[in-house]
Amino acid sequence: MSSPLTHDHAARILVVDDDATFLLVVRKVLEKSEFVVTTCTSGEEALEVFSDCEPDLVLLDINLPGIDGTEVCRALRTRMDDLSLPILLVTAGGDERAISKGYEAGATDFLTKPINFELFSHRARYLVKASRAMRELRYKRASLATAQRIARLGSYTYDIETREMQWSNEVYSIFGVDSDNEQPSRERFAAFVHPQDRDRVHAALEEVVREQKNFAIEHRLLLPSGDVRHVRHHAENVDDGRDHHIVTGVVQDTTDHARAMDQIRYLANFDGLTGLTNRRQFRTRLGDMLKSAGRGETLVAIMMVDVDRFRAINETLGHTAGDQILQIVADRVTGLVRDSDSVSRLDAGEFEAEIARMGGDEFTLLLPRIVHPTDAGRVAQRILQAIPEPIDVDGHRVTLRASIGISIYPLDNVEPEALLRQADRAMQFAKSRGGNSFQYYTESLNETSLRRLVLESKLREAVANERLNLVYQPKVDLETGEVHGMEALLRWEEPDLGFIPPDEFIPLAEEIGCISEIGRWVIAEACRQNKEWQDRGLRCVPVATNVSSRQFSSSDLYADVVEQLEATGLDPRYLEIEVTESAMLEDERTTTETLERLRELGVQVALDDFGTGFSSLSYLRRLPLDILKVDRAFVLDLPGDHDAEGIVGAIITMAHVLGLRVIAEGVETEEQRAFLRGISCDEMQGYLFSGPVKPAAFEAFLSPVAEDG
Ligand code: C2E
Ligand code: CA
Ligand code: CA
Repeated sequence: MSSPLTHDHAARILVVDDDATFLLVVRKVLEKSEFVVTTCTSGEEALEVFSDCEPDLVLLDINLPGIDGTEVCRALRTRMDDLSLPILLVTAGGDERAISKGYEAGATDFLTKPINFELFSHRARYLVKASRAMRELRYKRASLATAQRIARLGSYTYDIETREMQWSNEVYSIFGVDSDNEQPSRERFAAFVHPQDRDRVHAALEEVVREQKNFAIEHRLLLPSGDVRHVRHHAENVDDGRDHHIVTGVVQDTTDHARAMDQIRYLANFDGLTGLTNRRQFRTRLGDMLKSAGRGETLVAIMMVDVDRFRAINETLGHTAGDQILQIVADRVTGLVRDSDSVSRLDAGEFEAEIARMGGDEFTLLLPRIVHPTDAGRVAQRILQAIPEPIDVDGHRVTLRASIGISIYPLDNVEPEALLRQADRAMQFAKSRGGNSFQYYTESLNETSLRRLVLESKLREAVANERLNLVYQPKVDLETGEVHGMEALLRWEEPDLGFIPPDEFIPLAEEIGCISEIGRWVIAEACRQNKEWQDRGLRCVPVATNVSSRQFSSSDLYADVVEQLEATGLDPRYLEIEVTESAMLEDERTTTETLERLRELGVQVALDDFGTGFSSLSYLRRLPLDILKVDRAFVLDLPGDHDAEGIVGAIITMAHVLGLRVIAEGVETEEQRAFLRGISCDEMQGYLFSGPVKPAAFEAFLSPVAEDG
């Protein structure tokens, strides 16, 4: 097939977009289709390079930083006074006003992002071809014949009286014959028409001749070479003015166009790699199927099949091998669902089992008219058995596994989108369980539990790879305003999920049993950092770390602390442990013992979040403590709330009697500070002075005190 672009030079496309990634992708795709691509990132630049690059087509983003796309389009039109150059405006959405403004400015058409490049390159070819034909006529004043050649447009005349026929050069060329060896006649003409279309064409021609009935039909040609071509064929009966009638006809070879249209239809609905239905078409079929299933007794199963660890395969073996593997997987799944006896029973009815590739390594199956949900499970089981059959590609033997999620209409939902989501969630659950299994959707697989699952595995990963961080919040002396201490607080920034607050991941870490490992790391890091600061001559103030109650029960906290103090060489006076009341209550004996031994070392112990638990003030007497931290909940209502004022006042008095220092948490306002100072609270911690900050930023609070000269 001759490329529509072989005419004089390769087609040039000017692409204007401020999105560099978009430009990169466009260039790659269009260059593959043999376009010469020039890219610009602004309207100004586009106007500048336009005359040099002489594009055959312009692709123009509407939203550009300086002059916007619509204005660039208008400027180009004014400048060249030519409507034949196709200018396509690209929009992000269907903004009606922008579109009508664009047309006013002379846009040929619109494209919306994301762009289907496969379709676009076909469209671009035809736009270029048509505009070139136009321009050819317009500027070069080329003969009609040239234009006809470009458009693959042949013309003929047939004299009704003399039965003489004349063909234009292009007719010969469409028929693929040499004008020297061919004597044009109606019989010869008919000989080129495809045998199956010959009667129809003959009848149409007869009608033009006898009844002056003009026609415009499409039919095929069968050329001597064996090639089948598609043509659009118009004919009219015209009077030459002297009562002499001739038939003039035009034959246009539309084969390339017809093929492109087929291709476009195919691409729009099928996956290019596997030939399976694509996502778009699948949605339509799913909708149709559910409509016809009604809400009666028929069940429809939606199954999501996802190859486990496919990304790793793609990365190690390369994309070509990856594609081959996906084709094999597609064939296996198709074979199973379409051929197996037990399933074809299920296929009876107007719908067949449908298989689609949703993109990547993800396939979706639709099993219509199943009798019981377990039918779907059986199919899933067969797939899971078939997929591990070893595959040989490029001298490598790969064994795949898959995870499958199943949702059932109408039991789980009646909405197509919801069913797809549920199947997907079930699949992800199967995957999180190690893969190679199938899972039905159930209520419990809702958003929350799924997030938990994802968090769980990401957290294990983060702990194993030491991807947690510490930030430090200063504790300030209420009397002098000096920084007297700091609290180390954990931070987890997950690459995919973003910042996860400790209130969310610490309880999770406790549940899944990695809190001790985390706690050990926190102590080690806090000691190391504090010692480093001291060694660098910064002011020496203690660091407090939070300790979970689990660290008392499931690990040897004392041994861990001793080990870290020794390893870092930090003086125990500079380490504080913050414990919550719940830790005290869980196993009072062990906890108290551990804390006592730590205090003997010189480590200080603080009771965190005081006031939120069960403890009474008298209970405090029994605990080995140095510091009491008043919970933010009480500070919040200060001053003004009579109860809060009374409670905080009593706590401070009592604590002082017991020889404890008191730190108020969550101090955010000047009024709170003034009040706390008035009732002799020792220290405060809160946003008023500073929130938790990164280690480098904390150094500012530790600048050495100027020594007296
Ligand atoms: P916490 O021990 O009570 O820590 C104080 C929390 O209050 C911190 O939240 C801190 O950022 C926040 N905060 C500080 N000043 C203010 C203020 O003025 N206003 C308000 N509204 N909040 C303030 P963060 O960092 O999100 O920590 C939450 C909790 O997570 C901590 O509460 C602690 O229970 C736990 N946690 C943090 N790091 C660790 C750790 O290393 N180990 C353990 N086991 N738990 C930790
Ligand atoms: Ca704390
Ligand atoms: Ca606290």
